[in-house]
Amino acid sequence: MKSMKIAGLGAVGFSATNLFYPTLAQAVNRQDQWRWCNKCQVLHFAGGDSLGACAAGGSHNSEGSGNYSLILNTPNLRGQYGWRWCRKCQELFFAGDGSRGVCPAGGQHDPTGSSDYLLKSKEDSPDYFGQAEWRWCRKCQAIAFAGGDSLGACAAGGSHDNSGSSNYILQER
Ligand SMILES: [Zn+2]
Ligand SMILES: [Zn+2]
Ligand SMILES: [Zn+2]
Repeated sequence: MKSMKIAGLGAVGFSATNLFYPTLAQAVNRQDQWRWCNKCQVLHFAGGDSLGACAAGGSHNSEGSGNYSLILNTPNLRGQYGWRWCRKCQELFFAGDGSRGVCPAGGQHDPTGSSDYLLKSKEDSPDYFGQAEWRWCRKCQAIAFAGGDSLGACAAGGSHDNSGSSNYILQER
């Protein structure tokens, strides 16, 4: 995890426009090593000991993925809080409504030990720079890339269902 300190509203050189709510000095915590799985399309943490179980079988495969950097444990930013890391499957999933979804490692996702992750979307931050078309799955609660050919296998069965999802934007490191 790394922190960057922003001098104030006059800070220039950051393409991440709209990242900052109008607070003055604000340290934004970030964590990279989040990757896209080319089998199930899901965002998962690949910086640990395990790549995690994949709904498409075996473990997640992050070959061909960018290195995504997520904002965590930083209050008062525009966006959606309540996203959690699952220690069993390594996926990021939405727990803000109390749901634990369905985990490809069996049972429900387990947020024990997770930080509080924030995601930004076209809806709340239209000028935010990054890769869009990341969508929340209402069945398994994970976030999967929906801009490709396949929606990806869902731990709840069939493919991910992103109906009702915001259009989330992820930044690469
Ligand atoms: Zn996978
Ligand atoms: Zn899980
Ligand atoms: Zn799903």
